[in-house]
Amino acid sequence: MDRRNFIKTTSVVAGVYTITDPALFVNMGNAADESWFNRPMRWAQLTLVENDPGRFDPDFWLSYFKKIHADGTTLSAGGVVAYYPTNVPLHHRSDWLGKSDPFGYLVEGCRKMGMSIIARTDPHAARQNVYDAHPDWIAVTSNGEKRRHWANKDLWVTCALGPYNFEFMTQVHKEIMDLYQPDGIFSNRWAGHGICYCEHCVKNFKEFSGLELPKTSDRFDRTYQKYTEWNINRLKELWLLWDGIIRKGNATSRFIPNGFPDKVITGELSDIVFTDHQARSGVTMPWSNGKVAKELRASIGMKPLGGIFSVGVEEQYRWKDSVQTEAEVRVWVAEGTANGMRPWFTKFSGVLYDRRWLDVVDKIYQVHYRNESYLRNTFPMARVGMVFSEQNRNYGNETWQQRSGDHILGMYHALIEERMPFEMVNDRLLDAEHLKQFKLLILPNIPTLSKDQCDQIRKFVADGGNILATFETSLYDEEGRKRIDFGLADVFGVTYDNGVEGPMQNSYLRLKKDTQSNQFHPVLKDLEDSYRIINTVNMVKVLPRSSFPYPVTLIPSYPDLPMEDVYPRVPETDIRGLYLRDNGKVRIAYFPGDIDRTFWQIMGADHGKLLRNTIRWALKEDPIVDVKGPGVIDVTVWRQENSMTVHLVNFTNPMMMKGPFRELIPVSAQVSVKIPDDKKATAVHLLVNEAIPAFEIKDNKIILNIPHIYDHEIIGIDLS
Ligand SMILES: [Zn+2]
Repeated sequence: MDRRNFIKTTSVVAGVYTITDPALFVNMGNAADESWFNRPMRWAQLTLVENDPGRFDPDFWLSYFKKIHADGTTLSAGGVVAYYPTNVPLHHRSDWLGKSDPFGYLVEGCRKMGMSIIARTDPHAARQNVYDAHPDWIAVTSNGEKRRHWANKDLWVTCALGPYNFEFMTQVHKEIMDLYQPDGIFSNRWAGHGICYCEHCVKNFKEFSGLELPKTSDRFDRTYQKYTEWNINRLKELWLLWDGIIRKGNATSRFIPNGFPDKVITGELSDIVFTDHQARSGVTMPWSNGKVAKELRASIGMKPLGGIFSVGVEEQYRWKDSVQTEAEVRVWVAEGTANGMRPWFTKFSGVLYDRRWLDVVDKIYQVHYRNESYLRNTFPMARVGMVFSEQNRNYGNETWQQRSGDHILGMYHALIEERMPFEMVNDRLLDAEHLKQFKLLILPNIPTLSKDQCDQIRKFVADGGNILATFETSLYDEEGRKRIDFGLADVFGVTYDNGVEGPMQNSYLRLKKDTQSNQFHPVLKDLEDSYRIINTVNMVKVLPRSSFPYPVTLIPSYPDLPMEDVYPRVPETDIRGLYLRDNGKVRIAYFPGDIDRTFWQIMGADHGKLLRNTIRWALKEDPIVDVKGPGVIDVTVWRQENSMTVHLVNFTNPMMMKGPFRELIPVSAQVSVKIPDDKKATAVHLLVNEAIPAFEIKDNKIILNIPHIYDHEIIGIDLS
């Protein structure tokens, strides 16, 4: 079997281990024991700078790795600078290297400690001598000029898709394997920086498409779409080339790319994955680290996932030697761990200036080490899946389609506020296997869905699954062509009425009791006294295909100035703001408005309540975990071989919406956890606080109080 077939077969086999089959997860855990991928739980990355050799103390780092129980490491090897005595022509040895081999020294030290070792290369930049010897290896701008490095004018940016990577870096990777046999090679910035117009890219793209390279990165441009396809193909080719060379050096070693533009392919080709979402930048929710984990898990299943985190500030000004507060680092890492990531700290420069982070990472890793058996997750127990799309790039030219990413963010935030355990679902993996674990599928404006994707969702409903969808979901096909009607019109029970209204100034939603039962619908819980709430900003016009209840109806826009004019011209309509169907078997909720995006932009409490109530109603079962008490807490639930865990990450903080936590503000919580029907709980632990809590069991539910959650608490429940 040649290499390519081998990889293909492997990935097909790996594809069987989907997120939805607990039995298979357990099998995978056993099988993986034979390789190294699943073994390391805590990673340590030391990225050397060129003048480190001779100046930094490698033994300090080795003893730090040991102290914090790191069992995997990533060490600088080569690329722009070689930290070992390389013999590959033009592979630049550090000017400070002399006769030393700092990479080899660290590899040996880590190997003695039984650590898994990944060699790090960075191929994105090269020196003048490389330019002089091979000018065609250098990236070219759209003006036809060779591209200088933006951060260091002495360097040139290399072409990622030409011979520099395919030939030169292949030799480098082969040499590293021959000399050191690491468990993997991790390449940083290997995938290029925008469109390269070098002679190789011009020729190769022409061969692929018959077209000239696109002049813009306009996602609606057909040539650019073709370019994206070619770019992904070419990078996949490079991945397989390097992976093949690396496997030849050591059969269980792998090429590990730092990011790949297609998550489904990432899932197919990888045995171990790392995310590079190191810290907040600008306005970033602390939950964004968990979101990255969930989005990858949707395609990689339970393959080991490392979360690279920075101990410094991650902003555009790139203070790479900086240190964040303890509180900020702790919450970021806790959120990654709660969402199934294994922590990987990264530090640039072997010589330290600000040492405050060392104790912080130590404390985090000690808790992790102590509780390792409760962190070897076998599958997530969430029953809610939220669909996200990598193919929405063909959608978005109309005014109401701008900022379409806000739909997901709003829904995500509502789920966090609801403390609802949930997973993300890749829209290209909507088959029954991938959806089997879910009782509710949420489609936060997923506009572009193919007929096959709509059929898969229909099948999910036919099998008893519930749906919550918003706005233009399924109104476009996978190519971004508008349909006459929603692809899921039959599921929603409504027909598209040819238009989107908005932005709607000063419009409202009327909330009212059911006229027959004289009761408020469950989606109006805690909104019973509201009479009306603000409307969404935009609303798709639809016509009901059958009869619907009337809990939420439209009050159309009316003047908002002069103040004397601010009175509703039409006090009530029968146009629903929410279409609810319950046929006894399944529940469908469809919001014609962009409630999720409006929620994200306005953060209206009433929108949050309505969304959260509707999620609860549509789930049609009690959530596995119910957490009461003040504050904002992310809740995730996992199974391990002999236990289950509930992670509670405390986001309650005045700095929450941007993330620069100064201190941790403890909250208390009353928690009830549903135990699997075929299991019995034998012990309960609070793993972070190292406490045995008092608890009671009622209807196979464990009920307990947690007096203080600082950044993170893990309820560990032993099962028999
Ligand atoms: Zn190029």
